[in-house]
Parts: sequence; structure tokens; C-alpha cells
Amino acid sequence: MAVGSLPDDKLKQHEEILLKERDDSLMLINNMNETQKKGSKNSSGDLSSYSYHQADQGTDTAELEKQAHLLDIEGKKLKAINEALRRVHNKTYGICEICGEYIQEARLKIIPYARFCVDCKSKEEKKKKK
Ligand SMILES: [Zn+2]
Repeated sequence: MAVGSLPDDKLKQHEEILLKERDDSLMLINNMNETQKKGSKNSSGDLSSYSYHQADQGTDTAELEKQAHLLDIEGKKLKAINEALRRVHNKTYGICEICGEYIQEARLKIIPYARFCVDCKSKEEKKKKK
């Protein structure tokens, strides 16, 4: 590794941000799970109301699919946050996993669970597009 770990107070600072992000994320996932539950309850609900609401059913399904997609994204984010917290404990947080240089502070502010510096990230994205 080209650089040393971030100072403890910086790590602590980032840990707090990550913990807060994790709480927000968990809350969002819980809310979405509730919506999903309600949605499936409605669609398997009693048949008399089903016929009345049949016209709405299409939009409901689309909405549920959207929710499921968002849930998937949020789940991945939560995983990334947990991994970032592990890096805080290993004191490798804030260091790019590819080039081993510090990840820019400004970048960590926007994406606290970032694993790569801006340069490496854009290179990775170019690779993916090929
Ligand atoms: Zn890098």
C-alpha cells in the first residue's frame, strides 16, 4: 500500500457518517418491505374488491416492480456501507483498493462507501462500457 491509514479521528468521523447512512438505509428498506407486504396482500385480497380495482392493478404491479428494483439498489448500498464500516475497523477506509492512494475527501463526502478514487472509478466504468 502506497499510503498509511487515515488518522483515527478521521476514521471515527467517517464511521459516524457511515453509521447514519446505514440507519437511513435500513429504515428505507423496512418501509419498502412494508409497502411490498401491503401490495401483495391487496392483490391476493378478496375477489369482490379485486374486480372493482382491476383497472388500477396494472399500475400497482408496475409500482411494486419499481419498489422491488429500488429495494435491490438499496440492499446493495447497505452492503457497500457495511463493507466500508469493516474497512474503517481495518483502517483501510479512504484508501483506493486499486491504486492504494487516498480517496479524495470531497468524493467520500458524496459517496461515503466509495472503494476507489475518482481516477480508478472512471477507468473501471470505461472498462465496463466496452
Ligand atoms: Zn485509485
